Amino acid sequence: MMPPPILRTLPDLRALTRGWHRQGETVGVVPTMGALHEGHLSLVEAAKERCDRVIVTIFVNPKQFNSTDDLAVYPRNEADDAAKLARLSIDTLYAPSPDQIYPEGFATTVSVNGLTAVMEGAHRPGHFDGVATVCTKLFTQTAATDAFFGEKDFQQLQVVRRLARDLDLPVAIHGCPTIRDIDGLALSSRNLLLSGRARTIAPCLYEELEGIVAALTAGQPFDELRRAAIARLERAGFTGVDYLDLRAADDLAELDTPARPARLFAAVQLAGVRLIDNIPA
Ligand code: AMP
Repeated sequence: MMPPPILRTLPDLRALTRGWHRQGETVGVVPTMGALHEGHLSLVEAAKERCDRVIVTIFVNPKQFNSTDDLAVYPRNEADDAAKLARLSIDTLYAPSPDQIYPEGFATTVSVNGLTAVMEGAHRPGHFDGVATVCTKLFTQTAATDAFFGEKDFQQLQVVRRLARDLDLPVAIHGCPTIRDIDGLALSSRNLLLSGRARTIAPCLYEELEGIVAALTAGQPFDELRRAAIARLERAGFTGVDYLDLRAADDLAELDTPARPARLFAAVQLAGVRLIDNIPA
């Protein structure tokens, strides 16, 4: 299989997509930060099913990292990524050089209020401004009709839905289910940073989430379940639990029972790596 053509500049991207748009073809974009795994590839499959053309973007967006250390160690391997995409025969891989996204003098920030005040927004100041700004750029640069995001980052998915709606961006946002390893650990580029021992501990997070949802369904109170789960996670070797929250799926309001469509969200620290996960409750 041929690896996809890699484009680095906005003029090259526009030259490619102009004809597609003129012919009324649907264009799906899958924004990523690379180090692609089966989770990313499932979004590409969803895009291929729905759209005439598929663009995958790889851009490790400095504005969404709130720690320079985290940015420095973020895994990057474009050659491997291109080889994985070759099997899916996409139309192009857009891996813009940084000046194509943030040219000299760039001074605009897209900021979504409300939804970003909690969870990842509270623990990673500036993170969602970075996400919202880069997604807006990628939507306008690709002029995509459809964009595909993972429920793995459920809060991000809701933030992107809100910004597309608030700014009348002509792009339909699609959420895709979380892909997990055989032991339940949600696939994540950050899993590559886990030591062998940490990797054996990591699946406990999903087990705890599943256990809480089962107990909630049986009518047990969330605050007790949360307390017990945090204690077990710490005993298992997690070095901290940033949050373990039950929230409404639509507006992310905090709940103490899953009285309306809800999700259970967690962020944990494990040997210097931060992992997030969420499941329907
Ligand atoms: P990232 O490269 O981590 O920024 O992720 C790019 C896209 O892939 C985002 O929409 C993520 O939500 C999605 N994604 C990451 N991990 C998974 C997974 N395990 N299952 C489904 N989608 C995922």
